[in-house]
Amino acid sequence: MAGGVSQRMAEEIKTITIAGGGLAGLALGIALRREGVPVVLYEALCYPRHRVCGEFISGVREETLQQLGIADLLDMARRPQVVKWWSGDHSLGTFSLPEPAYALSRYGLDAQLCERLRALGGEVRENSRASADPEPGTVWAAGRRPTKGHWIGLKAHVRGVALAAGLEMHLGTNGYVGLVEIEEGWSNVCGLFRVQSSIQARGPQLLLDYLRHIGLDALGDRLQRASWRDDSFCAVAGFRLGMQPPRAGLAVIGDSHSIIPPFTGNGMSMALEAAALAVVPLCRYARYQEDWQATLRSLQNNAANAFHRRLTLAGTCQNLLLAPWFRRPLEILAQQQLLPFRPLFSLTRR
Ligand SMILES: Cc1cc2nc3c(=O)[nH]c(=O)nc-3n(C[C@H](O)[C@H](O)[C@H](O)COP(=O)(O)OP(=O)(O)OC[C@H]3O[C@@H](n4cnc5c(N)ncnc54)[C@H](O)[C@@H]3O)c2cc1C
Repeated sequence: MAGGVSQRMAEEIKTITIAGGGLAGLALGIALRREGVPVVLYEALCYPRHRVCGEFISGVREETLQQLGIADLLDMARRPQVVKWWSGDHSLGTFSLPEPAYALSRYGLDAQLCERLRALGGEVRENSRASADPEPGTVWAAGRRPTKGHWIGLKAHVRGVALAAGLEMHLGTNGYVGLVEIEEGWSNVCGLFRVQSSIQARGPQLLLDYLRHIGLDALGDRLQRASWRDDSFCAVAGFRLGMQPPRAGLAVIGDSHSIIPPFTGNGMSMALEAAALAVVPLCRYARYQEDWQATLRSLQNNAANAFHRRLTLAGTCQNLLLAPWFRRPLEILAQQQLLPFRPLFSLTRR
């Protein structure tokens, strides 16, 4: 009898389909399952796997993690708080984040999120690529939109590199690199570079070549001497930063909606925030309290209010950081201890 009633109630809740099992899609799936909403998630590849990411989560609030039901999964993360910046060989200074960040590998985190979603009754279909049809009840969380872009992101795990701070940030000409310790003595090295077609190396050598190309020779030497974790090197190219072109009628969250420049360490936080913001509108849709058009409007308005300012500011800062003419003024400001790390930090977050 009880089973019959709960089955009927389940049948009265629409299923939400999620395309993409990165942080945004998995966190959304978990939060929806906690609300009793049926979830089917399509992931083009499989878990676990390494991803191009700085693996440094900054700016996410504890209440967001609690709301999503994933706070405990970050308990295993390291909590770096001190960031040291360099411009080439010049130290720009050290600053302490108002709150410690989280540092942990996406290899482990995404697999654990997937496990949790399944444990909560979500259906995860790995190696299944969804198509971007604007179907009611479908959320597009498929990450960076493949497009002609000028950027390449490269990452690998290395061991045997003593870090000078919780997060090392190295600014070069047309690119930058972050290093953070993540687990068991491994550090993640991840950089964003303007594509240079003359650089043709493969695997870890590609990262080393890009470091030298942007003038970070000393860092290249340090990494050359390090041990590199098998299979951890990965690369991504063909994407644009900032707001992604809208897709009519499609509900989009995470990097599919907008990509904040990675130097902020805020992209994963935005993916999680976007998932948290989508829960209430999607629950209302699933329970027939709102139609799909109203749900789409809620998702779009929520995202615009939450992300517009920080995207604009972070884009401007990145342009300045990478502009060759700004290197010298930047170094002078740093010498005078006039770099406004803290205000910029706050403005590139919620
Ligand atoms: C160089 C670089 C460094 C970065 N460093 C940091 C950092 O230090 N800190 C930080 O917070 N953020 C960082 N980011 C950003 C961060 O990685 C992203 O913002 C975050 O991963 C976005 O999550 P997402 O779920 O939207 O997308 P993703 O994590 O990219 O997940 C999208 C998923 O969708 C799947 N998919 C794609 N197409 C389909 C399809 N058609 N059907 C089904 N599945 C599909 C993909 O396989 C993938 O698993 C960095 C990004 C770059 C490029």
